[in-house]
Amino acid sequence: MSWKADLKLADLPPGERLEIVCRACGKARYETARELLSCDEFSQAYIDEVERGLRCADRFCRGTVRIAQVHDGKTDGFVGGLA
Ligand SMILES: [Zn+2]
Repeated sequence: MSWKADLKLADLPPGERLEIVCRACGKARYETARELLSCDEFSQAYIDEVERGLRCADRFCRGTVRIAQVHDGKTDGFVGGLA
C-alpha cells in the first residue's frame, strides 16, 4: 500500500504542497492541500482518489497525473518561477 491510499487529503497540513505531474506530457504544477480541498469532491478523498480525479492542467493533453509530496529544500528553485 502506498501512502496515497492511507492518507486523506484532509489529513495533510493545509499548507502542504503537492507536486502534480502529468504522466503523458510531464507538465508539473503545485497545489497546496488547502487548494485541493476547496473542491468538494476531494474533501473526504484519499490521495490516490485525488490523483485519479485530477487531469493535466493542459487542456489539449488532459492526461492522468501522479501526485508527489514536495520535500523541503527540493523546490527552492520553483518558488520564484511561480510568483
Ligand atoms: Zn499533460
